[in-house]
Amino acid sequence: MLKCRDIAAHASEHLDGELTWKQSLGYGMHLLMCGYCRRFVRQLHATIACARTVAAQDTLAPDEARRIAEHVLERAARP
Ligand SMILES: [Zn+2]
Repeated sequence: MLKCRDIAAHASEHLDGELTWKQSLGYGMHLLMCGYCRRFVRQLHATIACARTVAAQDTLAPDEARRIAEHVLERAARP
């Protein structure tokens, strides 16, 4: 069974669809059972969507949006 820190550490691969089916199954099982991680993943989705929206409006360079998303993922992976 994955732990909460595993969910944060592999969030990027999860969102990019880079997990194997077995990893994805374990990830999904943890999310079914853990409200904290469901909230974390939901907020991560919202943050990325927000960064993409801002980038699409030409108010933020695409590279800056990517750096913001990476920063969020780095902060989330910290214990
Ligand atoms: Zn969890």
